[in-house]
Amino acid sequence: MQEYMNTKGRIFDIQKYSIHDGPGIRTIIFLKGCAFRCKWCCNPESQEYKIERMTFGGKEKVVGRDVTVAEVMKEIVKDMPYYKRSGGGITLSGGESLLQPEFAVALLRAAKEIGITTAIETTGFAPYETVEKYLEYLDYVLMDIKHINDAKHKQFCNQSNQLVLENAKKIAKSGANLTIRVPVIPTFNDTKEEIAQIADFAKKLGVKHLHLLPYHRMGEDKYAGLNRTYELKGISTLSNEHINELYETAYRIFGEGCQIGG
Ligand code: SF4
Repeated sequence: MQEYMNTKGRIFDIQKYSIHDGPGIRTIIFLKGCAFRCKWCCNPESQEYKIERMTFGGKEKVVGRDVTVAEVMKEIVKDMPYYKRSGGGITLSGGESLLQPEFAVALLRAAKEIGITTAIETTGFAPYETVEKYLEYLDYVLMDIKHINDAKHKQFCNQSNQLVLENAKKIAKSGANLTIRVPVIPTFNDTKEEIAQIADFAKKLGVKHLHLLPYHRMGEDKYAGLNRTYELKGISTLSNEHINELYETAYRIFGEGCQIGG
């Protein structure tokens, strides 16, 4: 066995049969740890790198476990026939997998070596030298651009967007298969002006896909389970009319390849 198969990383879930995180049927590996603290985050248990306890559905559970690449691959290969038939593969998610480069790159490499396609869902928030190491083993990059205004980005995500925007330009220039995704969040980025700015940025990157992901509250209950407060409590989800208006705004700027969901 290759030495890199013993590389250890920290994950909190492996989700099978996903159809929303890249093409085809995919296995999603959720890594622990994220530098952002987005107020709408539906995986708050992903944010801390440390292993935590949380209450969910009335039961206490441990969130996070240390695994080797070989152990994760053992799970991944079970669904090989689904990947082959659907054009699917694996997607690294989180949390933010860029924060565990040794493990994540080894995992991507192990998948590629047996012909499994690879994707990452990412904030792009890491030095570009780190991002580059992943690109070598990635078929798809699904990257969030949450806001063009830095002050608002800091207010809602707890980090500047400057590194994100710079890395998006560099990833696009590298020729990677990059999709820009926009979580559309009421009170944060749900005006036509804000969506137009992001669509314009994405257009100038020269990417083929721009996905608007409407706000949902599926993670809200998890906050209480972690003894934390859900800061967007009381904020309504977007009406169909509103999200369609934003889509039309984005489509006028970006053109084909713009869609709701994805
Ligand atoms: S970047 Fe993703 S995982 Fe990290 S806090 Fe934001 S929504 Fe949550």
